[in-house]
Amino acid sequence: MSENLLTIQDLKVYFDVKGGLLKRTVAHVKAVDGVNLEIKKGEILGLVGESGCGKTTVGRAILRLLEPTSGAVYFNGNDILNLHRSQLKPLRHDMQIVFQDPFSSLDPRSRIGEIIAEGLRVHGVKDADERRQRVLETLKLVGMNETHMRRFPHEFSGGQRQRIGIARALVLNPSFIVLDEPVSALDVSIQSQVLNLLKDLQKALNLTMLFIAHDMSVVEHVCDRVAVMYLGKVVEISSREELFRNPQHPYTQALMSAIPIPNPKIKRERIILQGDVPSPLNPPKACRFHTRCREAIAMCSEVDPILEDLGNHHFCSCHLRQPTN
Ligand code: SF4
Repeated sequence: MSENLLTIQDLKVYFDVKGGLLKRTVAHVKAVDGVNLEIKKGEILGLVGESGCGKTTVGRAILRLLEPTSGAVYFNGNDILNLHRSQLKPLRHDMQIVFQDPFSSLDPRSRIGEIIAEGLRVHGVKDADERRQRVLETLKLVGMNETHMRRFPHEFSGGQRQRIGIARALVLNPSFIVLDEPVSALDVSIQSQVLNLLKDLQKALNLTMLFIAHDMSVVEHVCDRVAVMYLGKVVEISSREELFRNPQHPYTQALMSAIPIPNPKIKRERIILQGDVPSPLNPPKACRFHTRCREAIAMCSEVDPILEDLGNHHFCSCHLRQPTN
């Protein structure tokens, strides 16, 4: 079994809520509340959940695009959260991110060649010819060419702009990429092209990826393992095959039931979750899902279930799901 490239231990990200005349901290939004994850070298780990569950915050915290409250993140043996900013810089080229909205993440006044070369400049590639050559090679990797280098972001379609976003992440030759909802802003017809590109790149470059999405059908196409998040915590994690064949957590089952089935003859019971996701400012006690769970029992609002291995590395946190042996 390959070794871990990234290990996340008990990661917490709380945001202060200020109030009163003196703008004192009066509460905390617990966006991420004790997440443990491991990502193996060359693996694509999916992180899914409804909007506001904390998945994007996890992605940004492990890159230190925002500062976690506590926990540990080890990348290639480096204790990321305890590095000084100056020590972090050499690692930055190895850990990249692709954002959800390719248009707003690309400077509209810069040409594509300049946008992609920016990272090379920041990381000390001084020679302009070398920068140009590397930009060109990277554009080819994402299915674009030299003629695109002199154009501006508004001259491209949504799918092309996301290819440019991917090229910007790849140009530094990283080993790890966070993909933050990389296809959710794209038309469905374009989504599969970008997903196929990501899969091909992952294989060709042996990349390790954290793929953040709210749509289960998207992670089904690209991920090796999938972690499901609810209100700041991981509630289920297993291989993709196992999760899609045998989802265990009631929340995962509800997400799965929303995936459209292409064959109209096959019917699946749709599980409609009651109410909205509770506020992370004041999450429900014990099992956070108990206010919306159709299987909840008295114990669920009193005791927090732990994430347990049900067998075959299929982890789930639910009082009603027990290990097979
Ligand atoms: Fe539902 Fe209880 Fe399981 Fe939580 S612990 S998912 S409330 S059955």
